[in-house]
Amino acid sequence: MRKPIIAGNWKMHKTVAEAQALVQDIVRLTADAGEVEVVVCPPFTALYSVRTVVGGTHVRLAAQNVHWEQQGAFTGEISPAMLRDVGCDYCIIGHSERRQYFAETNETVNKKVKAALAHDLIPIMCVGETLAEREAGATAAVVGEQVRGGLAGLTADQVAAMVIAYEPVWAIGTGRTASPRDANAVCAFIRAIVREMFGDAADRVRIQYGGSVKPENIAELMAQSDIDGALVGGASLDAVSFSGIVKFR
Ligand code: PEP
Repeated sequence: MRKPIIAGNWKMHKTVAEAQALVQDIVRLTADAGEVEVVVCPPFTALYSVRTVVGGTHVRLAAQNVHWEQQGAFTGEISPAMLRDVGCDYCIIGHSERRQYFAETNETVNKKVKAALAHDLIPIMCVGETLAEREAGATAAVVGEQVRGGLAGLTADQVAAMVIAYEPVWAIGTGRTASPRDANAVCAFIRAIVREMFGDAADRVRIQYGGSVKPENIAELMAQSDIDGALVGGASLDAVSFSGIVKFR
């Protein structure tokens, strides 16, 4: 019922030429992926050139961040309308690196989510606990607050269209993956909160797992009841690895 969605977050990597070469390979290697939505998230500087390659193909374009204002004196920021204009369908919002290094909070994430949805840009809203929080037994409290805060004030239809990425911070770029059972338990918990807040939207919202996803561990993750896809960092910078993840079946 929920279409799997595999997104590659390229972070602050790739020149224009490198981005074009990578996405050309991704388009070719994932052409036979079947019923899986494939999304690439290049840095802002490569969005336009990547769009010239993915336009008309099965690969969708996402940005890694967005500002909540429409336009104006906000030096260095990019608006949802600008991202739509350059061809983005999706936007990562509230990645843990933005929360950690750029002081993003549940409130700013919520403003960005609302602004994106108002411009038909689908948020991939990231949530996840740190290692210290997990060890303190605070995973549910932290993730619960991130989900409630990020989704505050939305309609059920808006939430149903969204993607939520559960990314335990201790698993990002570390080679440590949450066990499929543990990852699924938190994804199921997130879905339960969505059900409590928005009813049946919980059956439609897609929930990804992210954190050291590789071709070797994706099948078991995707076999879980509440994991509908993956947000992939490191392994998305290599077309063969990324396509191996996309073709998890
Ligand atoms: C990420 O940055 O969203 C991520 C999951 O990174 P990695 O796959 O490298 O752990």
